Amino acid sequence: MTIIPDAGRHSVTTHFIDGAWTTASGPTFDVRNPLDDSLVAESAAGSASDMQTAVDAAARAFPAWAGMAPGERQRLFLAAADIVDRRHDELVRLMAIEGGASRAFSSFQIRLSSAMLRQAAGWGYLPAGDVLRSDVPGRTAFVTRKPLGVVAGFTPWNGAFYLAWRTFLLPLAFGNTTVIKPSELAPMSAGLIHAEILAEAGFPPGSFNVVTNAPGDAASVAEVFFESPDVRCINFTGSDKTARILGERAGRALKRMVLELGGFNPVLILDDADLEESVKAVTFGAFLHQGQVCMNARKVYVDRSLHDEFVERLVARVESLALGDPVDPAVIIGPLITDAAVEQIQARVQDALDRGATLATGGRHEGRVYAPTILTHVPKDAICSTGADETFGPLLVIEAFDDADTAMRDAQATPYGLSASIMTADRGRGLDLAARFDAGIVHINAPTMASEAALPVGGVKDSGWGRSGHYAVEDFTEVRLTTMSSGPGRYPF
Ligand code: ADP
Repeated sequence: MTIIPDAGRHSVTTHFIDGAWTTASGPTFDVRNPLDDSLVAESAAGSASDMQTAVDAAARAFPAWAGMAPGERQRLFLAAADIVDRRHDELVRLMAIEGGASRAFSSFQIRLSSAMLRQAAGWGYLPAGDVLRSDVPGRTAFVTRKPLGVVAGFTPWNGAFYLAWRTFLLPLAFGNTTVIKPSELAPMSAGLIHAEILAEAGFPPGSFNVVTNAPGDAASVAEVFFESPDVRCINFTGSDKTARILGERAGRALKRMVLELGGFNPVLILDDADLEESVKAVTFGAFLHQGQVCMNARKVYVDRSLHDEFVERLVARVESLALGDPVDPAVIIGPLITDAAVEQIQARVQDALDRGATLATGGRHEGRVYAPTILTHVPKDAICSTGADETFGPLLVIEAFDDADTAMRDAQATPYGLSASIMTADRGRGLDLAARFDAGIVHINAPTMASEAALPVGGVKDSGWGRSGHYAVEDFTEVRLTTMSSGPGRYPF
């Protein structure tokens, strides 16, 4: 049995709490295919009381999970990785019908996810702490890394499958138990399917829990995370707008937060760059998942000597991408997630054109399928070009530059700082520029989206804080100091 709907049948989903699917009762909400609004699932519209039940289950499961031998945990993570690989084709279909993801994007996520599960399988064997020097004779001091307790996670609809794995497995790998609140737009790809996989792999009841909620109920359901003393950390992937609301609430509750937010990711193409490689890297980096990933490239700064040829070749490559229903494996550009997303991109393209920009390609849509759009000669005050706000869709701005240092400074005039890329044949020059970038990630000769399971992803400034990979040990553990003294102490009184 799986929650993934068959062709012609929608799913009815419930919460996953304490090792079991809860009995479906109470209200539901509809999850619809973004391509054609067909019904994909009726999902349980959870309440604060459901969430409290899940948090209680996670709290009960915590001591045993935290104390489990690393080898036992390793076996579970490796089993989950094998299930993810085995279910590749089903998962691709789920991501297409629920989130509008192309096969190329879903396969990318599946590969990253099983690789990350295999990485995480070994983290139980990372050093558990340090022995420290003490100035007091006869004293031994050591620190051990301790899991926090229950880590609550918000998972997003975009890149849902991979990002939900991140939200589950980074805390789990370091000994925490988890409760996930998936996005209302894709609750299966953003958490419920993970519950199915973790249960099959044999993770113990209560170590992972998922509670879904209807749009509009998020604040009241998530309030449990802030109120419960068992929840020690809130792990949010989403927009900086919502992160500010949650951050204010977390401030009052004095809760630790890990934030993976948006980006306005620039690409610098220097005069010595390989043009064909640059065209490929930008096409992939800007238009994977229709530009709905926080790490998509939003703006390309290209040396003026290359500008015209770069634009010409890029337009040709982008226009060759197939648009339509992502269930068709040849399709690269599927639908945007909502009408609001289409309206946002349309308004921003129009704003740029009204200010005098040139449309190199795109600027049109059929339903929610928006053609990849490239704008050149965009005035700096056009909304899509300022960097003040990410346009979450297939819209790329290209700007010619005369001086790489100035371009680099312009590229950083944004509150975001997630990913950047630099294309150049001179790796030393690339490293010099990279060192001056204020971003969590800088790739030299690779797209802004060059994720690998073992490498830390995360932002600076308004792109958030916290890192994936084993660096997440900083986010999901705390340091316990223990000292042990012998002999008489020396006291001033
Ligand atoms: P998106 O618009 O991409 O879905 P958001 O950042 O708006 O991203 O939402 C991400 C998550 O935050 C969703 O799970 C949503 O339910 C939740 N959310 C949105 N607003 C609030 C709020 N006021 N309180 C708690 N959760 C919220």
